[in-house]
Amino acid sequence: MNTNSWLNPLLEKKCSGTEGCGIFAKADIRKGERLAIFGGKIMLIDEMYEIPAAMQRFTMQIEERFVLGPASAVPEDTDFFNHSCDPNCGFSGQVFLVAMRDINAGEEITFDYGMTVSESVGSDMVFKMDCRCGSPRCRKTITEDDWKIPELQNRYKGYFSQYIQEKIERMNDNTSGK
Ligand SMILES: [Zn+2]
Repeated sequence: MNTNSWLNPLLEKKCSGTEGCGIFAKADIRKGERLAIFGGKIMLIDEMYEIPAAMQRFTMQIEERFVLGPASAVPEDTDFFNHSCDPNCGFSGQVFLVAMRDINAGEEITFDYGMTVSESVGSDMVFKMDCRCGSPRCRKTITEDDWKIPELQNRYKGYFSQYIQEKIERMNDNTSGK
């Protein structure tokens, strides 16, 4: 169920006992198609400590100081997009998820959490996650510094969360001596 977010009706949540839940394509999807719009409650990163531990993973960083957190105690379908180190989706702005390439019916819809996380400001919270996505590109550990990796900056150009895309442009302006 979705009350605060929008999930494209071409997608569905599926769960299995061993793999957990994910979001899958019910039909072929074209590159550029809008697949989800994330909603919720805007929180300072430290306010994550105040929500139940089980809900803390359903937050998404949208700026150096802010996350989009759950607006209720019940997760929404849009909370179940899994990370992949070789994803088929990325961001337009901070809250629109779009297809980075054509996607076939049956494929799992994924984005790279490195597209949204960066070092938090005003909080000691650090993002670090083990990954076993199985891709040959798997980084094994996903961190809040991954947006600084040049190969990812190239591969995800224009698909990072807007605030990170701007950080990348500032960083690259500085290193090119402008
Ligand atoms: Zn991985």
